[in-house]
Amino acid sequence: MRSWSIPAGKLFGIEIRIHLTFLFLLVFVWTTESSTQDPTAALRGLALVGVIFGSVVLHELGHALVARGAGIPAKGIILLPIGGVTILDESQSIPDASKTWQRDVRIAAAGPFVNLFIAGVSAAAIAAVIPNFAFLAKPLVHSGNLLRSLVWSNVYLGLFNLLPAYPMDGGRVLRALFTRQMDPIQATQRAVRIGHAFAILFMMVGMLMSNWWLVMIGFFVFIGAQLEERSAVFQSVLQSVRLEEVMLTDFLTLSPADTLEDALDKAVHTLQDDFPVVRGSDMVGVISKQKILDVLRVSGNGYVQAAMNRIFEVASKQESLASAFRKLSARNLSIIPVVDEQHLVGIITLQNLMHSMALLAESRKLRRES
Ligand SMILES: [Zn+2]
Repeated sequence: MRSWSIPAGKLFGIEIRIHLTFLFLLVFVWTTESSTQDPTAALRGLALVGVIFGSVVLHELGHALVARGAGIPAKGIILLPIGGVTILDESQSIPDASKTWQRDVRIAAAGPFVNLFIAGVSAAAIAAVIPNFAFLAKPLVHSGNLLRSLVWSNVYLGLFNLLPAYPMDGGRVLRALFTRQMDPIQATQRAVRIGHAFAILFMMVGMLMSNWWLVMIGFFVFIGAQLEERSAVFQSVLQSVRLEEVMLTDFLTLSPADTLEDALDKAVHTLQDDFPVVRGSDMVGVISKQKILDVLRVSGNGYVQAAMNRIFEVASKQESLASAFRKLSARNLSIIPVVDEQHLVGIITLQNLMHSMALLAESRKLRRES
């Protein structure tokens, strides 16, 4: 997602990015409108895109600021042609859904609320300045009348997002309400089923009415619901699995007194990419196969002691996978030694974490289905 978007500045310290497909929309509007005879039509078309664009940005800022108020920082906002996505950094929060449902409802409702608020305030302001303004004249949203478009596009954005079609905002509210009675995964699955039903409805109605916009939204809701369900399963695995269940217990250690050539000889016989360096029973560092090769190539043979990384994190075997994952990603590490009462009892590497998580997610799915 990130790689297909370009930065467009910051608002309230939150990074705003524009997805490349949004630029295609701009080009599309420009070319279709400028093909008409009226030269100002193209400009007005772009202005309308600007109005909708601004409304979507404010919608997403609503989510992001309420989330930040609740202690979940927003990593950024990505603008897509069908709306925006706010990426929240939930790695720091400890999801205990029974306590967080009210917070989740507030975060989800904040976006549509912003749009309905803008619609109300701008309608009141327009009515005050322009008496007898034709609010109900059709078409409601059109580049020919930007003020009326401002009001109605926000009404649409607000109401449409409140439909209970997960992962749209209304669906998120619904999911949060479900978590009062069931565990988060079940709540997500129920919301996903409703989301899928809506997605299919959108696509069918869209095709019947030749409204391709609605077909596209239905398609994205369908895919989005699927992805959310997968990440919910993933999250729960992260939270509930202890490191002792997945750590590698059969692993190779190196000694700081080993030469790099010795280390490489040993490393050849294992699939392991990262090694704890141990003196006696003390962990003194970590080193990767790649690092051994790099140092050998650049400065020739030497001792592991000089080449190893002395800065590392250890974890206890009772810690959750989520916690190990945070440690790995926060410091860009590729290995975490697992200790029990000062003794090295296992290692967790990025490579083995990926494997074991895929396995665990699969085995849980099997258990739930049976
Ligand atoms: Zn929203």
